[in-house]
Amino acid sequence: MKTQEEIKDIEKELAYKPEHIAIRCPEDIEKADAFCEDYKEFLDLSKTEREVVNTILMMAEERGFKEFDPKKKLKKGDKIFFNNRGKSVILATIGKKPLDEGVRFDIAHGDCPRLDLKGRPLMEKDGFALLKTHYYGGIRKYQWTALPLAMHGVVVLKNGKKIEIRIGEEPKDPRFMISDLLPHLSKTQDERKLSEGVKGEELNIIVGNIPFAAEGVKNPVKLAVLYILNDRYGIKEQDLETAEIEMVPAEKAVDIGFDRSMISAYGQDDRSCAYSAVMAAFDVTEPEHTSITVITDKEEIGSYGNTGMSSWYLHHFCEDLCDVMGVKVRDMYRNSLCVSSDVSAAYDPTFSDVFEKQNNCQLGYGPVLEKYTGARGKSSASDASAETIARIAGILENEGVVYQTGELGKVDAGGGGTIAHFVADMDVDTIDLGVPVLSMHAPYELTSKLDIYHTYKAFSAFLRS
Ligand code: MN
Ligand code: MN
Repeated sequence: MKTQEEIKDIEKELAYKPEHIAIRCPEDIEKADAFCEDYKEFLDLSKTEREVVNTILMMAEERGFKEFDPKKKLKKGDKIFFNNRGKSVILATIGKKPLDEGVRFDIAHGDCPRLDLKGRPLMEKDGFALLKTHYYGGIRKYQWTALPLAMHGVVVLKNGKKIEIRIGEEPKDPRFMISDLLPHLSKTQDERKLSEGVKGEELNIIVGNIPFAAEGVKNPVKLAVLYILNDRYGIKEQDLETAEIEMVPAEKAVDIGFDRSMISAYGQDDRSCAYSAVMAAFDVTEPEHTSITVITDKEEIGSYGNTGMSSWYLHHFCEDLCDVMGVKVRDMYRNSLCVSSDVSAAYDPTFSDVFEKQNNCQLGYGPVLEKYTGARGKSSASDASAETIARIAGILENEGVVYQTGELGKVDAGGGGTIAHFVADMDVDTIDLGVPVLSMHAPYELTSKLDIYHTYKAFSAFLRS
């Protein structure tokens, strides 16, 4: 018979129990805190996919990255960037090994759920100037009412001139708001299903209430708003047809909890991964394998369009890079490894019934290595091989990164996808690795600073491998 001691030793030897990063690496609490100060600044500067690309390019150029020129020779240690239409961006550092021995792809997305203005957004109704919106990505519409919103975007005039709009971020700026009913009068609305609590056509943004004082003017409040827009930006009503204006939550990133262990901010899906990936890309110098970090666009609406991962832009970049280096692009793909860096839904104790705790990621337990995503029996998942998972897990373990494995919620509770399958389609071994998030796709999402720091450590280890 085994003694109590022996059984405890066997448990220690054989059983596996995930551990909070703070328990495994208490020394990282302070480091994570410092890392996340700059992360919060990045979030506040980068509330649209265009702003994400601008911020990254600014940081990259400060660190010596040069625009990729397919006619120029490259040598190990060279750092280059490729700007895809101002909405997605590629950073690369040339490695010691030839490209046909494979590269390290790290791909996150910079677009986030939001409210886009329609092509003819401005209207006047019963004394208010309102903007009509069409939401982008999966949102729970009722969450977007009764909170201050900021307006970000571009108006492109027909002569090609681009006007940048950013209102609601400076302390003295006005903000905008979608109204909701008061509980005293919401009896009928309360009977709607939660998914229809606020409907798509009810996401109207209030932008003005003072009319122009003149007889016979058709829409005096709307006209007064147009006047202000014209005064500040020189635009007219019809110019909004050729604009891309995004309404986003106006608040800044803040610490959450007495212990300041977490961050609440807009857009952490997927800017928590994007920031970690980019910081890892900045750190790497003369890696073994060339590293290619991509911050892509359109993930939240299915990766369509020429700035999303279903486009050939990454393939074209890789083809050009391989031409410069004199190797075949397909040899490069075949020997490459990719981490598709996207967030996953962390276990939420308040809504525990949609999660399967043993196989769900938890806040504070490190980046999540996900073999597959998808829905209804892994449909649309790229389903990484055990060999691929083992390679990545080995890299993380060797470098002391705390990680966890997981899948998104209970079987058949719902599901979701990432860009992993687009890269796997290119004949690249691909796996999902990203930050656990609570309240994903809500105006303000919740993450753990320790997770973000270890995601950065994970990406750094991966790029060095
Ligand atoms: Mn995402
Ligand atoms: Mn998402």
